[in-house]
Amino acid sequence: MAFREFERLSPNRDAAAHERLGALFHHSELGFAETVARMLDPESRVSYHCLIDLDGTRCALVPDAQVAWHAGVSRFLGRDRCNDFLLGVAFAGDTYRAPLSVQQIASALEWLEPRWAQFGWGIGRIADHRQVSPGRKRDLNPAEWDGLIGAIAAHFGRGAPRDRVSGLKSSPRSRRKNHPQFP
Ligand SMILES: [Zn+2]
Repeated sequence: MAFREFERLSPNRDAAAHERLGALFHHSELGFAETVARMLDPESRVSYHCLIDLDGTRCALVPDAQVAWHAGVSRFLGRDRCNDFLLGVAFAGDTYRAPLSVQQIASALEWLEPRWAQFGWGIGRIADHRQVSPGRKRDLNPAEWDGLIGAIAAHFGRGAPRDRVSGLKSSPRSRRKNHPQFP
């Protein structure tokens, strides 16, 4: 499959180098077109790296190498400020009102594919906004998160970094793939 992707660069970004240690998923609440318009409005001061429509079409809003403004106060992998190190991907719509579409999940896998390989991600490098900003944000709907992370695990395997992040004893295989910046 290959979903359409087009670029609309958001002014809401920092040129600071992004660490690209993983991905953080959101839902945008608004529809696709309204969300793109909001990301292009400097007044909103919000952006994602990528927004995924119901039919799987993706809008690239911020280059991966730059910092988008999607997470706010947040913590993951033992660090604050997820914007510095997690790429932000949003599904158009509200996952409490309607489930993710089959195309949205497939498009997210397609988006993840080159990055997973290039940056050495594992399942433990993927989160949603609800998990990194507990009590403050509720996206995604936990049932939709379960579906998404299940699809990611089925597609990519679990990868190594989760062992490190969760403190589980790592296998020789995962030790080889560990990223030393996470004690
Ligand atoms: Zn969010």
